Amino acid sequence: MKKNMSRLSFLKHKIKERKKIYENVTSLAVKEKLRSSLYLNEALDQPHIYRIEIINTLKCNAACQFCSNERLSEDCLTMSDTIIGRVLQQAVIHRTPTINFLGGEAMVDPRFFSLLELFAQAEMHIGIGTNGILLTTQHLHELKRLGVMAFSITIHDAVAEKHDRTVGVPGAFVRIETALREAHGMGFRVGLQTICSPESIASGAFQRILTFAHEKKVPLKINPMMPVGKAARAECLLSAEQTRDLKRLVMSDPLLSTHCIHHCRMERCPMGRTFVGITPAGDMLPCYFMPLSLGNILETGFDDYLSYAQSFPIFQKMGLAEGCCIVAESPKFFYEILKPLYEGEPSLPLDLRKNPAWEQKIRSFHL
Ligand code: SF4
Repeated sequence: MKKNMSRLSFLKHKIKERKKIYENVTSLAVKEKLRSSLYLNEALDQPHIYRIEIINTLKCNAACQFCSNERLSEDCLTMSDTIIGRVLQQAVIHRTPTINFLGGEAMVDPRFFSLLELFAQAEMHIGIGTNGILLTTQHLHELKRLGVMAFSITIHDAVAEKHDRTVGVPGAFVRIETALREAHGMGFRVGLQTICSPESIASGAFQRILTFAHEKKVPLKINPMMPVGKAARAECLLSAEQTRDLKRLVMSDPLLSTHCIHHCRMERCPMGRTFVGITPAGDMLPCYFMPLSLGNILETGFDDYLSYAQSFPIFQKMGLAEGCCIVAESPKFFYEILKPLYEGEPSLPLDLRKNPAWEQKIRSFHL
């Protein structure tokens, strides 16, 4: 008991200390680092967008069989300069520290490096999620010049031919290995990402990727298969037992992380509270894998997005338990929300503000 009390007062003291440091720091990148530290995450109780994930293009140079973006924003594949400008404006007003470029494949956008430059000039911390196919030596130098020092590469197997077959691009795996080697030599912080699915477990690919990450000593972020896009099928969901095993594994290994387990610590899902995903058409998604729009950035600012999101119980801080990813883990959410959306709605993401029936359904959803 005494030991618990002293631990509690130690934590309280730490929170106070870090809040003070946080308030006095002006660099957005340092702010982001502090925020993600153990004590501050829970201490900063106010909903605030700390991370934007931007889909600057849905075009891709690979053809994965389970792409999560299938059916998303089909009539607008590339983000206009007007929308990019609006994202930047909102990020600056809101003091959002981090932006991640995702796709599609973000790097196929001919404007890619000038977009990075734009956000780098606003002193934002930039991350990139890529399939690695365009990570040439020249592009790595360009990233370094722009001060982008972190990115993550998605792999689907540690056997070259199997990875290449999944993405439909011969030579893709060799490119990743080369990029990893070069990037490490140039001082980049590189992570790998992969998907854990019933299929990747059964085929042994998941285990091979774990071994590969450990051999290369590269952090590995594991996405449980999201039943969305091309994978919006019940058989794509991990079983309860597989989910339990995955969490146990990630909680025991600091090299591994998921959407809501980092450094062996469970965090709360950030959807609609500290996160916004933005599609090429400007739709604001509470979660990158949730085909629901809470407004369009051309008309909706970050503050308005947040106050609307926070009117839904599941997006509130206590809406989900720590370590719970509702999209990947909840069969109830799949059968009541995701499946009907993918099977019944002609166009996604679905704008909740214009669909009162769906708005009500999400508002009253409980796990
Ligand atoms: S629902 Fe899952 S994928 Fe979406 S933001 Fe939450 S933890 Fe991340």
